[in-house]
Amino acid sequence: MTDSLPPSPISCDLDLARDGAQHGFLRLPWSRDDSAWGAVMIPISVIRNGAGPTALLTAGNHGDEYEGLIALHDLAATLDPAQITGRIIILPAMNAPAFRAGTRTSPIDGGNLNRLFPGRPDGTPTQKIADYVTRHLLPLADCVLDFHSGGRTLDFLPLAACHILPDKALEARCREAVAAFGAPYALQMIEMDAVGMFDTTAEAMGKTFVTTELGGAGTATPRSIAIAKRGLRGFLAQAGILAGDEGATTQAAWPETIWLDMPDGDCFLVSEEEGLIEPLVTLGDPVMRGDVVARIYPFGRSGRMPLSCHARRDGIVMARHVPGLVKPGDCIAVFAVPVS
Ligand SMILES: [Zn+2]
Repeated sequence: MTDSLPPSPISCDLDLARDGAQHGFLRLPWSRDDSAWGAVMIPISVIRNGAGPTALLTAGNHGDEYEGLIALHDLAATLDPAQITGRIIILPAMNAPAFRAGTRTSPIDGGNLNRLFPGRPDGTPTQKIADYVTRHLLPLADCVLDFHSGGRTLDFLPLAACHILPDKALEARCREAVAAFGAPYALQMIEMDAVGMFDTTAEAMGKTFVTTELGGAGTATPRSIAIAKRGLRGFLAQAGILAGDEGATTQAAWPETIWLDMPDGDCFLVSEEEGLIEPLVTLGDPVMRGDVVARIYPFGRSGRMPLSCHARRDGIVMARHVPGLVKPGDCIAVFAVPVS
């Protein structure tokens, strides 16, 4: 689909077709004040054992979402090629500059990698990363797992997710892969802002695609990391890449995944004011339409009543705003509906 584009400036120092475990870098040339012929070094690992399916595992698409980063670094450091059939390609910090800076977007060019797919080989550094993944890694993959969490400004119920897709056979495969991930919650969603997402590009190429939101708040917890690690193994077992025993152990971890639905835009509660936020509900709490779920105290002086923020639909709290201050347009909370 992108045959007319020039070659990518990014090089990979691994032979992705070779058996065994290899660890190296994607090298993105980046000439700058402090490094004249410098490069952005993006870690990559490939673990292969003979013919079989290929999984592309990515985290650090946003640089401040840590569960997947930790789970993929752990997998790359510990997985024995003899445990698998086929190939696993691991990019634990896909937007490496953002990861190093501890930010959602790249400090080099302000790029939000998950809004710049399929990318450009002659664009900004972040567009070049997207282009390399689109043209050089996605074509090798049968299935893709892209880890996300809430980052520094949101915290989520731990969930794996797939999308409602026009290709119903692909949609069913994605849903099975989400079930195999086995998180406490699962979500099948319609994206409000799908243009430029890694998900959209991978799904358009017919790849089984799973994404996650596994916590957030700019950190990770032992529980959220355990969910990421076990989910990863369940995903690889279901793909036929990891041996069956590993998968069976994983499946027992969270036997009762609760599926959620986001029926419409009323799931999102957005602040219209700035100030100091007082949350009145927390993750997983049930809410009814009209409930006061947060109050916002205006800046400036004491003695004023706070503004009440009301839920716009029935549901449970799936995500919540993290910082203690809000601005107009900030997402205060996201509500979802459990599916029986
Ligand atoms: Zn993210």
